[in-house]
Amino acid sequence: MAMEERFHEYFAALDRSGDADNCFLCRRSPAEVKRFFGFYEDGTPIDPEPFGLEDVVLAPTVDVMSYKGARPVCAVCQLSFESICLAGDKPAMLELQHQMEHERDRLWPDHLRAPES
Ligand SMILES: [Zn+2]
Repeated sequence: MAMEERFHEYFAALDRSGDADNCFLCRRSPAEVKRFFGFYEDGTPIDPEPFGLEDVVLAPTVDVMSYKGARPVCAVCQLSFESICLAGDKPAMLELQHQMEHERDRLWPDHLRAPES
């Protein structure tokens, strides 16, 4: 994809997300996603020796965020979603989503309940 198309895709995604360059699901920034995978923002490993990553550098072209969907999503959430689906737990995920939306007070202790309006 040409650089110009990538910029257009990126800024169109930011328009859809209210200018937030974060994962729509977990709210991680691209730098936080790289840190989650063990890399500094420039692509160098944070702690290379224990993991044998002395010669590994994430290329600048490695994408840790996708801006092609309805909202930006990170590679961590994509992998988590895929593992949920592969495990056959998609119905449970949808049930949990429903419970989180409609049964918050049942899921959480009193001090974490939503304020009464
Ligand atoms: Zn995420």
